[in-house]
Amino acid sequence: MKTALITGISGQDGAYLSQLLLGKGYRVVGLARRTSTADRAGERLRWLGLEHDVELADGDLTDLSSLIRVLAKTSPDEVYNLGAQSFVALSWQQPILTGEVTGMGAFNILEAIRLLELKTKFYQASSSEMFGMVQAPAQNETTPFYPRSPYAVAKLAAHWITVNYRESFSMHASSGILFNHESPLRGIEFVTRKITNGVARIKLGLNEYLELGNLDAARDWGHARDYVKAMWLMMQQDLPGDYVVATGRSVTIREFCDIAFRHAGLDYRDHVRINPAFFRPAEVDCLKGDATKARDKLGWLPETTLEEMALEMVEADLQRLKHAA
Ligand code: NDP
Ligand code: GDP
Repeated sequence: MKTALITGISGQDGAYLSQLLLGKGYRVVGLARRTSTADRAGERLRWLGLEHDVELADGDLTDLSSLIRVLAKTSPDEVYNLGAQSFVALSWQQPILTGEVTGMGAFNILEAIRLLELKTKFYQASSSEMFGMVQAPAQNETTPFYPRSPYAVAKLAAHWITVNYRESFSMHASSGILFNHESPLRGIEFVTRKITNGVARIKLGLNEYLELGNLDAARDWGHARDYVKAMWLMMQQDLPGDYVVATGRSVTIREFCDIAFRHAGLDYRDHVRINPAFFRPAEVDCLKGDATKARDKLGWLPETTLEEMALEMVEADLQRLKHAA
């Protein structure tokens, strides 16, 4: 039986990756931060019915000693570093924390693996935000980076230290440059989930309006359930590498609003209001990934369309709100 250690197990991707790995017979151990509530596993693992199937180990990406302790005790075959302060907008409010968790966190876990001389494979959750002010119409593994937020700068440091440890110490360290991926388990502050939750609230008569920022930005959105498969595939390769994971379709926030509101029989133009508070100091205008390498080398392809995903998200938010009522 293989053992996987996942940092960020309580997040969106941690939940779907746990589901995938448990289905493949892995022992799954998750790094969990102490919180003041007893809810250690979190709502996402519970939503997928996995809260009793994973093991949780106390630790924090900013605490090297905790990482050494957990790695030494677990001896994982694969480490997936998904833990991060992952919200771009917040990274301007808490840039130093973002640097320490999202950036230095990767240094810490790589260094812990190196100090313990573990033979584990390592996955780093890199991000399309690293392309920022894009230098090519469709971004692939050779496109130069131009980060536009403290989050993206931190992710870039984590990305390059992964490449560097691979080259310096022959570690099986891979980096997945994942474009935005969403699901019913996406954090409610991210724009897709904010929209689908808003649609559900308006549909149920709980609100009349939804306030958003820049509707003209465009993203290449896929489904998290599809994207965690690419993470696992990278770890099954004989050689480590970097891979862009994307759908190749770029859609504006406005178009996503249109799709999501229409699923509920609503017109977004009647309900969406612009609030400048949601504009960012520096914007990433348009992302569109070219995942040819992932298709050719990993045999990976996205399976869920944007329309299917938006429908699943709206339905899940309606269900959540009806249960809460
Ligand atoms: P989430 O924000 O849903 O989850 C982040 C996870 O990191 C949570 O489990 C959180 O734990 C954990 N975490 C935060 N701070 C620490 C810390 N100091 N020590 C240990 N763990 C910590 O992110 P996603 O699941 O959406 O994304 C997974 C990874 O992929 C992230 O690194 C993200 O930046 C990256 N990524 C995501 C993309 C996307 O579109 N979703 C695109 C590209 C990259 P807690 O519950 O305790 O807060
Ligand atoms: P990001 O790509 O990781 O920053 O993911 P987000 O979902 O947070 O943001 C995607 C895009 O939506 C960005 O270009 C935001 O400027 C834009 N956007 C517009 N309105 C909002 C909003 O109200 N909330 C968020 N989170 N993003 C918004």
